[in-house]
Amino acid sequence: MPPKADINKAGWEQSEFPILCETCLGDNPFIRMSKQEFGRSCGTCARPFTVFRWNPGSGMRFKTTVVCQTCAKIKNVCQTCLLDLEYGLPTQVRDTALGFVNDAPTSDINREYYAQNMEGKLEGNKSALDTGKAQSAGKDMLKQLARTDPYYKRNRPKICSFFVKGECTRGTECPYRHEKPVDNELSHQNIQDRYHGRNDPVARKILGTHAESQGLKPPEDQTITSLFLSSLSPNSTELSIRTQILKALPTVQPTELKSVVHVAKSRCAFINFKERDTCERAAEAWANGFEIDGERVAVKWGRSRASKPPVPSTSSVSVES
Ligand SMILES: [Zn+2]
Ligand SMILES: [Zn+2]
Ligand SMILES: [Zn+2]
Repeated sequence: MPPKADINKAGWEQSEFPILCETCLGDNPFIRMSKQEFGRSCGTCARPFTVFRWNPGSGMRFKTTVVCQTCAKIKNVCQTCLLDLEYGLPTQVRDTALGFVNDAPTSDINREYYAQNMEGKLEGNKSALDTGKAQSAGKDMLKQLARTDPYYKRNRPKICSFFVKGECTRGTECPYRHEKPVDNELSHQNIQDRYHGRNDPVARKILGTHAESQGLKPPEDQTITSLFLSSLSPNSTELSIRTQILKALPTVQPTELKSVVHVAKSRCAFINFKERDTCERAAEAWANGFEIDGERVAVKWGRSRASKPPVPSTSSVSVES
């Protein structure tokens, strides 16, 4: 039994084996792990936890766990690479596709308390993430984007910084990789952002590329801030559309949604956002369509007003034929 009686260690985490994705674990079936109880503080909740360190395969760099198991379970991520355990994707991609709210506190004091609290609610190795109620369009998107095969290249040693400067004298003995660095966006990230799924350049790239492949490339005309929804349910109303849009975009404030113009007769609607950025994020989240009133609606970018003859009304939208 763990020494629970030690009051000074209340909330500290002990574990027998790390929660890892296949890639981080490596392909060596005889893996040996070194374990250090309370080896360091968790990269997100700051509580001391059991740190594991291992070599994921010959020629690979040593890997180590950087967040505690409670934090890993809350977000269903690997303790080392922080990618989603089911889809192998950054949390920002997963949460955008599924319309998940990030309710884990980010302030120093609250996050420790939150993790400790969550610990009691988590059973065994079960994740706290409930994807049961997520939209099927979002799940389809994740299935398309998922990286399910292990990607061992990710475990290679880091690039030799001396080699890059032309100064490495270790030659073939050098444990680091002697190659030119490609602009690696991962190096500009921090643990907190990747874990909480915000400001993640890798996620942005994945989402942007996917939206483009689905015909949702953001139009050049920056004044376009609207999306066009078609194939709406005959039961949809302006209110039901508005409500479900805001639910699908938990990071968008109701005030950022300028207006919803529902054209019931043609079962379509214009969604006008205040900011272009919000509109782009919505297009990315709905790259595979999205469900309103039980119907999967198609999403397109609105058209530029300039390219159309002026409409003799105060309407701020253009209707697609
Ligand atoms: Zn933690
Ligand atoms: Zn991993
Ligand atoms: Zn070197």
